[in-house]
Amino acid sequence: MTSRIPVPDGSDFPLANLPYGVIDAGEGPRLAVAIGDHAIDLRVAAGVGLLPHGAALSAPTLNPFLALGRTAWLETRIALTELLTTDRFDRLPGGAVQARAGLSMVRPFDPGDFVDFYSSIHHAANLGSLFRPGTEPLNPNWRHLPVAYHGRSSSIVVSGTPVRRPRGQVRPGEAPPHTAPTTALDFELEVGFITGPGNALGDSISADSAADHIFGLVLVNDWSARDIQRWEYVPLGPFLGKSFATTVSPWVVTLEALSPYLVPGVPQDPEPVEYLRTRGDWALDLELEVTLQPHGAAAGQVVTRTNFAGNYWTMAQQLAHVTINGTNVRPGDLYASGTISGPTRGSEGSLIELTRNGAEPLRLGDGTERTFLRDGDTVTLRGWCQRPGLPRLGFGECTGMVLPAT
Ligand code: MN
Repeated sequence: MTSRIPVPDGSDFPLANLPYGVIDAGEGPRLAVAIGDHAIDLRVAAGVGLLPHGAALSAPTLNPFLALGRTAWLETRIALTELLTTDRFDRLPGGAVQARAGLSMVRPFDPGDFVDFYSSIHHAANLGSLFRPGTEPLNPNWRHLPVAYHGRSSSIVVSGTPVRRPRGQVRPGEAPPHTAPTTALDFELEVGFITGPGNALGDSISADSAADHIFGLVLVNDWSARDIQRWEYVPLGPFLGKSFATTVSPWVVTLEALSPYLVPGVPQDPEPVEYLRTRGDWALDLELEVTLQPHGAAAGQVVTRTNFAGNYWTMAQQLAHVTINGTNVRPGDLYASGTISGPTRGSEGSLIELTRNGAEPLRLGDGTERTFLRDGDTVTLRGWCQRPGLPRLGFGECTGMVLPAT
């Protein structure tokens, strides 16, 4: 099958991808699907009967479409593929196809709840060693359940939104605590899933039915202020060191599109308890990289590369864990993986790990060094799936520039 809209070689968005986003071409937010360098306005396409579920596809956010569930998502994907590959395309009104270069991107979903996991064993071991030197890096619960905290949804922003350096209470060494802009601003390389229908309060979602409730995935930068975090996090976990901003990529890549790239997860020892046992493949072979571009530099440089498939706890296990107590998942919730770090130097998903808490600064191409982020730095996450015999599917960019503290 060939798309009626040409797809440049190497594009993140071939016909097999069809990720959902929200665009603004000056007429307010509209749902759209990306194909190559273009976006299709779903309200216009549904308005002339070329797509099903016109009411949900005419909303300014994905949430009503997420609520419809997997059958509706599949029907729409089939109709989109047909629209793009047959003479149905000729019935698309002018203005339904927009060049992506001229569009503003809007946060594609309204997140009611945001959870951040801690599911990379390499990240958990690295942070445990840095924050609690001399102790066992993994807490006793870590291999038995996917550790997480509830984050803040109000400050989830779409890629391209600048991030203001936060201020807060810090305590360097044994000195009295004081209030200051963070001097330890960091990124966290993460992948998050966005939920569909969800469950009624009191019910649970089994790991086996996770695919009915996971609509798609985005790249997530969980910006972190390590000095604020270090002082505040005992005993209840991250709070203001995390809640000031979280950036998501603008195009939601569906689980349906990603399913050919699912692979077996890493071996788990000990075997998890019953509700965390899964069938089928739930790890995703997703290559990831982060670039850092200092203010004024011509380009960013890659500071880390890793792969999502190495995470210990999978999305199905995370969703089963979230609801084992009967709490209710709603359409548009965001569940982020936690920082994704690999086992080797150069594959860590945060600066605190890459620089060993500042002891081993990164040297950048412009001659400067980084322990943590400087004002004017732009951090960009990228991710793509690539397997033999399959097309390359990308996520686009998840980017943000650091603004000085007020
Ligand atoms: Mn995080």
